[in-house]
Amino acid sequence: MTTFDYAPAPESRSVVKISSEYGHFINGEFVAGANHFPSINPANEEVLSQIALGSSADVDRAVKAARVAYEAVWSKMSGRERGKYLYRIARILQERAREFAVLESLDNGKPIRESRDVDVPLAAAHFFYHAGWADKLDYAGLGHAPQAHGVAGQIIPWNFPLLMLAWKIAPALATGNTVVLKPAETTSLTALLFAQVCQQADLPQGVVNIVTGDGSTGAAIVDHPGIDKIAFTGSTEVGKAIARAIAPTKKKATLELGGKAANIVFDDAPIDETVEGIVNGIFFNQGHVCCAGSRLLLQENVAEEILRKLKVQMAKIRVGDPLDKNTDLGAINSSAQLSKIRELSESGGSEGAERWSPECILPDKGFWFAPTIFTGVTQAHRIAREEIFGPVLSVLTFRTPQEAIEKANNTPYGLSAGIWSEKGSRILWASQQLKAGVVWANTFNKFDPASPFGGYKESGWGREGGRHGLTAYLKSSQLSHKEGGVNEDE
Ligand code: ADP
Repeated sequence: MTTFDYAPAPESRSVVKISSEYGHFINGEFVAGANHFPSINPANEEVLSQIALGSSADVDRAVKAARVAYEAVWSKMSGRERGKYLYRIARILQERAREFAVLESLDNGKPIRESRDVDVPLAAAHFFYHAGWADKLDYAGLGHAPQAHGVAGQIIPWNFPLLMLAWKIAPALATGNTVVLKPAETTSLTALLFAQVCQQADLPQGVVNIVTGDGSTGAAIVDHPGIDKIAFTGSTEVGKAIARAIAPTKKKATLELGGKAANIVFDDAPIDETVEGIVNGIFFNQGHVCCAGSRLLLQENVAEEILRKLKVQMAKIRVGDPLDKNTDLGAINSSAQLSKIRELSESGGSEGAERWSPECILPDKGFWFAPTIFTGVTQAHRIAREEIFGPVLSVLTFRTPQEAIEKANNTPYGLSAGIWSEKGSRILWASQQLKAGVVWANTFNKFDPASPFGGYKESGWGREGGRHGLTAYLKSSQLSHKEGGVNEDE
């Protein structure tokens, strides 16, 4: 096998201007923060900027601004007018796509190929899609003129910073809610650039507020009495803490949490396409994907061939500079995440699974982990049960389709799953048996704003995207319990 060397093809970082320090974006303006913490480039540990650590007073100011904007402006505006702002934001995201892509890769460590071709276009697509809904909410399935909740508190993770912001802000705004959003502490920069987009789009002040900070800032949003609805994406552990915190309140919540998806390969699957799909399923975004295909279930009679071809493919993965257009696998987002990946991977070895990585030279500085697979994994191993959130694949085998389903469902999670088979009947059968919110067939990690996304069991509550996602931001003003409708507010 020959792998050609590619000359370096770095994207220029001169398209982005990063300030040495940022404040919060409250009521349409940037306001200074009291304390700051550094945000670093995980590929080389360079300090990119100082980010404000939001206090409960900052959160309070943001929630009050969002409330005033909701009552005075946003809830009074017609859906058609709101939609215009969303279209405007979507178009600005497209116009400034290169800037966003470079900034995302610098701050997060993901390859520019992915931020440029996936994160940023999909973020714009979410605004376009929801712009279209803004004046059509009567058709969301909640009766005539469904109402917004009010102020949404939104807390997002670091794996898709801009895209998760779009998943949260676009439906909230389309449905007439105003927003206080907190990005993850390691990846605030594209959210702060998005704040500039809100200014550029002349979005009325206070409709979108961005408070940066850590878990304590997130908790202050969750606990604030002026918040009507929480939308959270992150770990199951924090999701449970949020569920506990809001249990005695009237706050609504959607929680999009962890996953340990089974990617099931039946013996009639098209082998080469399947191998590509396995690679995409686990190594996309360094495996920092809650719906990653992190448990590969291979039918025993094709396991050897698939593993042989998988190793050939893995040897071709280019690991390195996220800004290089040829890079396939970028940096791990933080040293804390790298430690988690290392610890779980070491448990794989010590519990008896066999570890393999292709030869690859990792950069000296920054946080890196080679693409890795474990074979001989059993259901009892930690690497088969716990979310690794890194470029690590656990491989199990099965003999019968029924055994595949039992193994696939043997997890506290249920966010996504994949099926590889040539038979339509088998795909339909398996997709009905799998307890997972999204089931991909002969593909993996495909996202679309019109398609609802969310989990079973410990993977979360509610759906985001599509018509289903809208309902999380609306209350029906028409249906009563008697009529069989559930007005969640009662
Ligand atoms: P991860 O383990 O992948 O970093 P987390 O669930 O810890 O995921 O973080 C996801 C988001 O939740 C981040 O924005 C983080 O700051 C925030 N967060 C962490 N702890 C809390 C908490 N107790 N309450 C609210 N938000 C939190």
